[in-house]
Amino acid sequence: MALPDNLMVELRGIVGTQNVLTAQEDLISYSFDGTATLQQMPAVVVLPTATDQVVAILKLANQTQTAVVTRGSGTGLSGGSLPSANCLVLCLTKMDRILELDRQNLTLLAEAGATTQAIADAAAVAGLFYPPDPGSMKISTIGGNVAENSGGLRGLKYGVTRNYVMGMQAVLAGGEMIWLGNKCVKDVAGFSLKDLFIGSEGTLGVITQVLLRLIPKPAAKKTMVASFPQMDQAAETVSAIIAAQIIPCTLEFLDRTTIGCVEDYAHIGLPLDCEALLLMETDGHPAVVAEEAGRMEQICRDHGCQEVRVAKNEEEADQLAAARRTAFSALARVGPTTILEDATVPRSELGRMIRFIQATAQKYRLRIGTFGHMGDGNLHPTVLTNERNHEEMERVEKAFAEIFDETIRLGGTITGEHGVGVAKKSILPKALGRETIRVMRELRRSLDPKGILNPGKMFD
Ligand SMILES: Cc1cc2nc3c(=O)[nH]c(=O)nc-3n(C[C@H](O)[C@H](O)[C@H](O)COP(=O)(O)OP(=O)(O)OC[C@H]3O[C@@H](n4cnc5c(N)ncnc54)[C@H](O)[C@@H]3O)c2cc1C
Repeated sequence: MALPDNLMVELRGIVGTQNVLTAQEDLISYSFDGTATLQQMPAVVVLPTATDQVVAILKLANQTQTAVVTRGSGTGLSGGSLPSANCLVLCLTKMDRILELDRQNLTLLAEAGATTQAIADAAAVAGLFYPPDPGSMKISTIGGNVAENSGGLRGLKYGVTRNYVMGMQAVLAGGEMIWLGNKCVKDVAGFSLKDLFIGSEGTLGVITQVLLRLIPKPAAKKTMVASFPQMDQAAETVSAIIAAQIIPCTLEFLDRTTIGCVEDYAHIGLPLDCEALLLMETDGHPAVVAEEAGRMEQICRDHGCQEVRVAKNEEEADQLAAARRTAFSALARVGPTTILEDATVPRSELGRMIRFIQATAQKYRLRIGTFGHMGDGNLHPTVLTNERNHEEMERVEKAFAEIFDETIRLGGTITGEHGVGVAKKSILPKALGRETIRVMRELRRSLDPKGILNPGKMFD
């Protein structure tokens, strides 16, 4: 179905004809995100280049009750930017300027469509550091990162996107522009609405600019990989490192299936005769880095590791980190459909959760590779399947239902970083409880009474 002609004329008037896409071949690229098996064509894609255009578009959409699905780069893994039927996709990628780098206050102001990598690079040029590094950072936008409260490989020591957002400019469903937060280190004036918008998945407003906190760049870094004959030993090593009060910036793991796929893909020279690999990175003052690296190596050996490989230089460190960064792409080459999940448990339950995932894969005869942010308790069981095989897809569904039941039972969460979108919508009430959902629903309704923003996402 198409939107009325007069609406299209007004949209072209706001952003220019070249920034309104309606041809089927153009719309196809916006009909899915990074989530497997979900696709829906939008009615139109609009690419604004400035905040006043976003204001005008939302005023028009609100008047005509047109559904608006805000989109960054579409790398989301829960269907958050999947179009709804007959909607307007509001894609922010042309609003990608770095607006200010304030060296006195250590902040950076960027438009929402700037990539995470561009932000990290701009900070680095000034000798500063923007730590959140989702695996998708080369293409994901900062607006998408804020809307999903994305994590990354450095989350254990440095936290997630929320920890770096000081403020934002946002446009509400009715077209009102608001500023939330500021450059102050402390601010308790009123409710922290910026925190409400972080992780709101495009349901409360459109984020148009983001003010970020930067930190000094760590002086030194050491990267190492340890291989283990048993998964439990890797999980116990993680617990022992934390118990020893070492907080490395990265503590990631790959299981045997993932190691095999990564090695096939990236030829890094990873050991193939092991059940688990831990990628560990420590950064900070050179003396502390050397001491922590030595202690972590010893803890690995005490827990039965086969081998510890310490990167000799920056190039080798990047290569080892790439083993983890390419995990999703490497697994995705193996089967036609790759479903990447996001089960997160308290770190004390990691071993139990990993064993449960392995047993569930066996029970349902599925190929599941698991990798993830082990130091955060955030696991990505990834099933390699084929969406055309309906019988297998039924088994996949049953397996994940059991995995998420177990996650909740162990005191975990159904998503540590990928969000709810449409993928987790049905299990959100089970995870949060009906009263919590009611409060969220009322908050959403008060900001978007006509329900035009990302309808059908998170909850109906
Ligand atoms: C290979 C790969 C690796 C990944 N690794 C990680 C990882 O390590 N950690 C992690 O957390 N995630 C990861 N992801 C998931 C994904 O990249 C993140 O969720 C990312 O933040 C999405 O950014 P995006 O610009 O692509 O947003 P999109 O996918 O376009 O949108 C995501 C959600 O945000 C909303 N949104 C987007 N922009 C705005 C805006 N300006 N205002 C309001 N709402 C908006 C959308 O409506 C949607 O609900 C990975 C994905 C891939 C494909």
